[in-house]
Amino acid sequence: MAKKLQTYEAPGIVVTFDPNICTHSGRCVRGLPEVFDVKRTRWVRPELATPEAVAAQVAKCPSGALQATLLRPADPV
Ligand code: SF4
Repeated sequence: MAKKLQTYEAPGIVVTFDPNICTHSGRCVRGLPEVFDVKRTRWVRPELATPEAVAAQVAKCPSGALQATLLRPADPV
């Protein structure tokens, strides 16, 4: 049975993780260990780095299991 997509939100960014396609390369945990730590229950904590740093690391995920969307503050009216 397919595992559920996981969503991790922090100010400025939303990260999703699809456990069905992760190839366990370990690139995320080696590249940004404070954010990606499989020893924690909430293993992705995007609030522990800048949104840009998290997005840059997510872009290196070889399987595409990690995806990130940078959020902009609302434009002033
Ligand atoms: S970098 Fe991507 S494929 Fe590699 S362990 Fe992390 S989520 Fe899985």
